[in-house]
Amino acid sequence: MNNQLQQKEDIRNLSYEEVVQYLNKIQEKSFRATQIFEWIYQKNVWSFEQMKNLSKDLRERLMQDFILRPFEIAKKEISQDGTTKFLFELIDQEQVESVLIPTASRTTVCVSTQVGCKFGCKFCASGIGGWNRNLTTAEIVTQIMHVKDEAQKHAQPLSHIVFMGIGEPLDNYDNLVKAIRIINDKKAINIGARRITVSTCGVIPKILQLGQEGIQIELAISLHGYDNESRNVLMPVNKKYPFSDLIEACKQYQKNYRRQITFEYILIKDITCSTKALTSLKKSFKGLICKMNLIPYNPVSEFDHKTPTRQEMYQFRDQLKDFGIHATIRAPRGKDINSACGQLRRSIK
Ligand code: SF4
Repeated sequence: MNNQLQQKEDIRNLSYEEVVQYLNKIQEKSFRATQIFEWIYQKNVWSFEQMKNLSKDLRERLMQDFILRPFEIAKKEISQDGTTKFLFELIDQEQVESVLIPTASRTTVCVSTQVGCKFGCKFCASGIGGWNRNLTTAEIVTQIMHVKDEAQKHAQPLSHIVFMGIGEPLDNYDNLVKAIRIINDKKAINIGARRITVSTCGVIPKILQLGQEGIQIELAISLHGYDNESRNVLMPVNKKYPFSDLIEACKQYQKNYRRQITFEYILIKDITCSTKALTSLKKSFKGLICKMNLIPYNPVSEFDHKTPTRQEMYQFRDQLKDFGIHATIRAPRGKDINSACGQLRRSIK
């Protein structure tokens, strides 16, 4: 059964233009593409049979040529703060996690892009088991459709997408960009580019490529170091794409889109939360419009880093503000269900 399904293309791998091309090839009218997109992405249906304004012949043809099915939800955990973590089982039995994060002002879904991760950042549970494969565009958008369903049940329409789940989004560039175009498309999920954030550990060539795509999404950089040496401690990617080149790439991205860049910065006692770090950050960020999300380190059992005290964290934030760097301490969400930043894993079997 699964082999049979795996041989068929998932229709959610197709862009709008590709659905139009397919329809033209089978002598159907192009406007059917809009109807198909609305059924899948706006009315959240999970089968072609439900697409009632399509002819029976077209529905049967779609069923013959494509699949459209939900994931198995292997596990769903709800945190005391309302954060909901999903463990989805994919068609080949691999598993990924997505997180629904409701707050008073927005409802965000944190999406995975790969099964595992190659980059092995030293604070992150997602990279511990290594990398297995990229997610397809369909697997990326299907996570969102499931979480959208859940959000709607609680009358909290999805407003923001962050690519901060398992995997390095820019290491799965083509599938990611295609998914972003579907998310952004008014006929599909219809979430504005400025409400979509891609977080990267710093894959410089792809940051530069993203800067040429013409989609003005938000860029977040997992910085977690204040110079080359300190970044090497937590971010092995820094050996290939060093700190100073990364900052230059951010400046280039900013020149293209005039968007503020967000730096994610984990506060680890005596490592990234220090006076030396403050001085260096001030120097590096000169000329860059940016904000810093300071993330108190979330314990991961495999690492022995420590979280700074509250006072140390507030002091660090205030001193950044004194330098003119807008900085906030991010309240950890879903910590009790291991869905806070850096805690997502390939599997919780
Ligand atoms: S932080 Fe991102 S890039 Fe680094 S190991 Fe975790 S998932 Fe991979």
